[in-house]
Amino acid sequence: RWAYVNGAYLPHGDAGVHVEERGFQFADGVYEVWAVMDGRLADYDGHMARLERSLDELRIARPMSRDALGFVLRETVRRNRVREGLVYLQVTRGVARRDHAFPSPEVRPGVVVTARSVNRAAQETQAEKGVGVITLPDQRWGRCDIKSVGLLPNVLGKQAAREAGAYEAWMVDELGLVTEGTSTNAWIVDAEGRLRTRDVQSNILRGITRAAVTKLAAEEGLTFEEKAFSVDEAKQAREAFITAASAFVMPVVSVDGAVVGDGKPGPVASRLRRLYLDRARAEAV
Ligand code: PLP
Repeated sequence: RWAYVNGAYLPHGDAGVHVEERGFQFADGVYEVWAVMDGRLADYDGHMARLERSLDELRIARPMSRDALGFVLRETVRRNRVREGLVYLQVTRGVARRDHAFPSPEVRPGVVVTARSVNRAAQETQAEKGVGVITLPDQRWGRCDIKSVGLLPNVLGKQAAREAGAYEAWMVDELGLVTEGTSTNAWIVDAEGRLRTRDVQSNILRGITRAAVTKLAAEEGLTFEEKAFSVDEAKQAREAFITAASAFVMPVVSVDGAVVGDGKPGPVASRLRRLYLDRARAEAV
């Protein structure tokens, strides 16, 4: 396996960064994850645009042109012989003597790219059964729209899910409304049959898969509302699901152990998964 690190492709086991790398010391960096389908990148432009926005919000310089970055992503996928999987990109403020304030003069941003295969058949089996989620308080900062590598609450939340035998943890705000999963956006088809997910204005990541599914829902003529839902609404919902580049559309069949609907993936979630997979595969570049 190979990793791209600041201009070189290195054997994965030997690839490393400097001890004064700010991503390592301060989580001063951002990342993106693309799904790889048939060796191509799904939702390519959407993830690129979000990356650029995250960098701009943190005033980290763009490390190279979009095309050059795209080349590195594809080359990393190619060298790792990934046909179905994920490619990870991290861009940090770079290496400088440890000081909280930005390095002055500016240093080159740090860039790391890795790629790995995913067993999509196993993922499909999981989607046919559906997954469970737990809920816990959202303890994150006020800028969750930035895809920062500072992910401690997400790490602790996912570990809590793992220990509870669940796939994901949904984080809940002080009003009892679900914000999102630790690495996914959260959706329900509510008791009235409306497709719902929280609005992007209120401190969640603007999921690229979420945006694609929103578009598909409109094309399908589904009643859709960008409106947060409570944990109780999720438990009483007809269906629930999560979206992410790593999971596509994954049906949720239990919330904190309470069965959602009839405990099987719902028709809306299953249909949106199929539509998303077909569209993403066809448009991957
Ligand atoms: N929410 C969080 C907190 C995430 O980390 C992610 C993805 O990693 C998502 C949502 C889903 O975003 P996307 O669909 O762009 O993968």
